[in-house]
Amino acid sequence: FQRLRAGLSRSSSALGQSITGLVRKRKLDDEMLQDLEDALIQADLGVDTAMRITEELARRRYDKQVTADEVRSVLAEEVEKVLKPVTKPLQPDFSHKPHVLLMVGVNGSGKTTTIGKLAAKFRADGRKVVMGAGDTFRAAAIEQLKVWGERTGATVVAKAQGSDASGVAWETLDVAKREGADIALVDTAGRLQNKAHLMDELTKIVRVIRKHDETAPHDVILVLDATTGQNAMQQVEIFRQVCGVTGLVMTKLDGTARGGILVAISDKHELPVHAIGIGEGVEDLEAFDAGQFARAIAG
Ligand code: GDP
Repeated sequence: FQRLRAGLSRSSSALGQSITGLVRKRKLDDEMLQDLEDALIQADLGVDTAMRITEELARRRYDKQVTADEVRSVLAEEVEKVLKPVTKPLQPDFSHKPHVLLMVGVNGSGKTTTIGKLAAKFRADGRKVVMGAGDTFRAAAIEQLKVWGERTGATVVAKAQGSDASGVAWETLDVAKREGADIALVDTAGRLQNKAHLMDELTKIVRVIRKHDETAPHDVILVLDATTGQNAMQQVEIFRQVCGVTGLVMTKLDGTARGGILVAISDKHELPVHAIGIGEGVEDLEAFDAGQFARAIAG
């Protein structure tokens, strides 16, 4: 919690400070409500959420003296109300043998790192893990996954840079079946520059996985970089159109000024939020906790 708080402190202290500035020894009037709403929108919480929070504040305290702490506590409560229903730990069904998890998201969002962190967790639980280096566009992504393989003792399936990603996915499932693996983690490239191409590539990967096992992929996890702020909302919309996203992981919450976007995304899309990334290290993936996140946002 301390690390999440430290990470979110840039956004929360910005929001916390504006709340302190706005509230200082004043009655809760229309002007203050408007200023608070603006501050929440600035913090990426989204217009609908911001309006609901200020309405709730008005319902409770209109025309009364309020303190910054009271405002922060209502804020934390309302944010938690949005986040609680989407809080859902990742729960692979290992009886699938293998459970197939496809990781999608734009380049640099943290897909490969998140796969490595998940592999480490499953390995620590004694699970057999196979990772597929489906980001065939970047040689570095393939190398990075191999390093995670050595570090975690998970099998890595990789082909040369530029190979067909769906071929890698197919072989990953082949190897996973052959080795009796519990889970297959399949990486992908995320070049958003060309949406038609992205769609072609991802639908082909999903089709190939489905051909191998008609119940798969069992999880399609969209990785979002918290530092991209409002762009993350757009990414959710695009990837939902392109492939059936089943859940989210938000990364880089250790360095962001924009954690509020997760609240806006959850309010609008109601997609399960599985975990958050709070650093580059193997331990830096945590199950999502709505209450903690809400308190960190509120400052
Ligand atoms: P990909 O292109 O989506 O596979 O992204 P990568 O996994 O290669 O990550 C891109 C960069 O972000 C790398 O330098 C990672 O170390 C870094 N990264 C990933 N997750 C986190 C996180 O939670 N916090 C921080 N600070 N960096 C992260």
